[in-house]
Amino acid sequence: MRYKIETNFPEQLPNIEAALKIIDPQAQVVADNGDFSLLIDIDASSFGVKIQLSAPQVSWSFNDQEINDRRYNLEDRKQRLKEIVRLGIINIFKAIFDKNPPWGILSGVRPTKIYHYLRDKGFSGQEIQERLLQNYGLSPAKAKLLLEIGQLQEKFINNQTISIYVGIPFCPTRCHYCSFPAVSLETHRHLVGNFLKGLELEIKATSALCGELGFNIESIYIGGGTPTSLDDDSFAQVLRWITDAFDIRRLSEFTVEAGRPETVSKAKIEAMVASGVNRISINPQTMQTATLRGIGRNHSIADIYNAVDLVKATNLILNMDLILGLPNETGTMFLDSLQKVIAIDPENITVHTLAPKRAASWHKEFDELNLLQSQELVNAHGIAVDLLQQHGFIPYYLYRQRAILGDLENIGYAKRGTESVYNIQMMEERQTILGLGGGAVTKWVVGPDFKVSRHQNPKCPATYYQRVSEDIVKKAQLTRILLS
Ligand code: SF4
Repeated sequence: MRYKIETNFPEQLPNIEAALKIIDPQAQVVADNGDFSLLIDIDASSFGVKIQLSAPQVSWSFNDQEINDRRYNLEDRKQRLKEIVRLGIINIFKAIFDKNPPWGILSGVRPTKIYHYLRDKGFSGQEIQERLLQNYGLSPAKAKLLLEIGQLQEKFINNQTISIYVGIPFCPTRCHYCSFPAVSLETHRHLVGNFLKGLELEIKATSALCGELGFNIESIYIGGGTPTSLDDDSFAQVLRWITDAFDIRRLSEFTVEAGRPETVSKAKIEAMVASGVNRISINPQTMQTATLRGIGRNHSIADIYNAVDLVKATNLILNMDLILGLPNETGTMFLDSLQKVIAIDPENITVHTLAPKRAASWHKEFDELNLLQSQELVNAHGIAVDLLQQHGFIPYYLYRQRAILGDLENIGYAKRGTESVYNIQMMEERQTILGLGGGAVTKWVVGPDFKVSRHQNPKCPATYYQRVSEDIVKKAQLTRILLS
């Protein structure tokens, strides 16, 4: 739909458009001939907002008193004006579109940040819950979920440590829905050798930098791509570079992402155990053979069980990922996959919801694919939440994506005491994470407001190798400036 907006605060137009997109993802703000005409009057001094829709005639007005709470500062007050406008837009249009967005005015990737923001201000759990409902317009179920996750995360964040991410951007084939920095070994195997030379340089340089600046490393996460798609010797070599560079005994967590089960071998598991890895992620995404073929994964269900058997013979914490909403999958099929994964009894299960992404090879065809964006899938998600909780899994981190199916979210579940600290730190952005390898993102988190500065290594393994020496110097300089 097209929306004509008149407002005495034109600087709010991007915010108004963002709010409209929550309720109408195709919303476009236009100068003339809108399908809807809105008059938005903002009084910044009294935090008053009046919104009038001309046809049908609907109006909404609000004068915020809560922002006068002494715990808020000037920045919070500026932000609040945007929040009131968003709340008004959603309230005006929810009856017209017959939609009540469960996440209210929150459209970002990390809604749990709101919990920590309010907690830092000194609000209690009860006060946060009230604000999630009233100021942010969350549904009672989402407010409860966010509160539960935020409270659980508190003991993990606000520390003085850093973490390290190592990206290995290779996979056996590329999944059709993939938007990660990953190339297929079928076509790019010739790039592995130089990529590893670059990675060795970067691991050694990062080790020296951490020593120079006296960093305490809380966790290391080797992701990608699929790190275990390297051959056994190369994989063991990467682990040796890491164990030579960092004091592994002091880590709280050391994870290897082994997303593709067919890449897991006994030798790799033994190398992980010998190197102090204590968490592994094996990600079937579905337990339906037809779907595996349809999404471009060339492994079998038996491969999943074989990989799990190797892990079960160790003390590694096992995470398994599933995706709700894969093409041609009904909610019943997803629940069948979930029950099979629960029967495996991993310590962690991460439930993703499909969100079409621009970087996926399916991008252009997403509309034509049989994505069953039905209430049945949303209902299955609700059943999955209950099922996981019945089996002792608690939600411990959460993130959302643009255009995510059914306005849902991605949730990491864990048996109590096995939560992944890296996942929490990475999502809440309260800890600096140094990213090494292909497509790896370094996030420096600085100051009392947790300001985040980012740098991404090249995603292409060849470009990574060409630029690695230059990038090492640039990132070291920035780390010294920002963190020492
Ligand atoms: S296994 Fe993961 S990183 Fe590799 S292609 Fe599939 S989704 Fe992408």
